[in-house]
Amino acid sequence: MSAAPASSPATGPARQRLVLVIADGLRADVAEQAMGYLWALVEAGLATAGRYRCALPSISRPLYATLLTGRLPVQHGIVTNDAVQHAGPTLLHDAHAAGLRSAVVAYHWFYELLSGQPFDPLRHRRALPAGAGVVDATWYFDDAYPDSHTFADAEDLRLRADPDLLLVHPMGPDDTGHHHGGDSDAYRLCARRLDGLLAHTVPTWHAAGYDVLLTSDHGMNRDRMHGGDEPTERAVPFVWLPQPQRPAAAAAAMLGLRLPAASTELRGFVAAHRALVAA
Ligand SMILES: [Zn+2]
Repeated sequence: MSAAPASSPATGPARQRLVLVIADGLRADVAEQAMGYLWALVEAGLATAGRYRCALPSISRPLYATLLTGRLPVQHGIVTNDAVQHAGPTLLHDAHAAGLRSAVVAYHWFYELLSGQPFDPLRHRRALPAGAGVVDATWYFDDAYPDSHTFADAEDLRLRADPDLLLVHPMGPDDTGHHHGGDSDAYRLCARRLDGLLAHTVPTWHAAGYDVLLTSDHGMNRDRMHGGDEPTERAVPFVWLPQPQRPAAAAAAMLGLRLPAASTELRGFVAAHRALVAA
């Protein structure tokens, strides 16, 4: 016989189980053109998708902080990639306050935003920032860290820690875009490979009771850069993939969640999802 995980009470309201994928530097048009598995679910009515203009400046660390905190870079004050400081309360802290446990596989800047401490690769590879409810983590620190490894890390964390909230942050589109540009064959191929990784993992996550969402911090322009106001730098996808095994009314309510229309709305979306699961 197998015992239920200690974190999953047999009675009481349902707990949020959510995989949050933040694909770094994935622009909206390429996601829509190249990620056929995701749009197969949208076409079948099993997922919803949209796009929004990311906040400015359209660079990574400020927007990681914005996605996590719901505050604009000019409000939380992290406006460069060099700012090593705590982001303040995040959607992970919200989950922690609700009694939920998180696991994270992400670039080491996320560790710095959650801990307020500089990342040391020889000491902090699996360090847990205090106060955010993170019970297991893997932080990578090479921009070329393969997305295949990030997803394998994510599944390893999920099986090891049974988290309620799993944050997965693949770097492939950003790194590929900086080498080849956002209009390149290589960049589109990276998006196709990411779609393939999701085709392998999303059904598994759904079967384990997780809803899944995919978004990005910023896009990528033809000049192999981002940071400004060009549509290719700012338009990012949001794809909502709730697990399909619910009764029809509950599935419709879950699919009907209003998608974020700005980088600042992800934290609220995650909270709205938690409220709907518990209802
Ligand atoms: Zn970048």
